[in-house]
Amino acid sequence: MAVLSVIEDDPAIRFGLVRALGERGHVVTTSSTGISGLQQVIDTRPDLVVLDLGLPDVDGSQILSMLRAVSAVPVIVVTARDEDDVIVGALNAGADDYVVKPFGAEQLDARIRAVLRRASAVTEEGPVTVGDLVVDAVTRQVTLKGVPVELSRREFDLLLLLARRAGEVVSKRDILAEVWRQAWGGSERTVDVHLSWLRRKLGETAAEPSYLHSVRGVGVRLVAPEPGP
Ligand code: CA
Repeated sequence: MAVLSVIEDDPAIRFGLVRALGERGHVVTTSSTGISGLQQVIDTRPDLVVLDLGLPDVDGSQILSMLRAVSAVPVIVVTARDEDDVIVGALNAGADDYVVKPFGAEQLDARIRAVLRRASAVTEEGPVTVGDLVVDAVTRQVTLKGVPVELSRREFDLLLLLARRAGEVVSKRDILAEVWRQAWGGSERTVDVHLSWLRRKLGETAAEPSYLHSVRGVGVRLVAPEPGP
């Protein structure tokens, strides 16, 4: 059972979801506008949010950005358009998954369960330590030599992936698939840009790497630096 918040302006879909998801054992609260939905999520702290992208007051993708600024709650977006740029935009803005209208309650429920499984796997995982770098997937905090490092969501996800696979060369293709959820397409340049931001925040450069080592034409590897003399 999960506590779900559904933000959807179409009353027929909203009532249908309350019934269908309720029958599948979830507790469902609903909102018919973006702003009231955002407030409800902040107030009730649900396990997962189902967010329609086409809302009457504020565009759903803007609601998603506002939500991401204050919460890491899993979000599944609902879109009426099966278009790559809409879906990629939502995933880039921090959605965990999506469904395209019309969709069956069974498909949505399966996606809800899969997203919640991923989220709970993270909760059970302890912090990853590489040298003096500690990456905590639960609190989403990073420290270097005990000093907190402020990272954006993408920078954090990128660092967490590399830390989990420390010592291994991770290809940019893998990074795009895991961090940006773009198994197809996507630009390796995006990875390069985030890597350079991450390097700056960790106090290193590509020319003088400490933790982040680029392997030309292959990918990037995170390793603990050699102890100094
Ligand atoms: Ca709508």
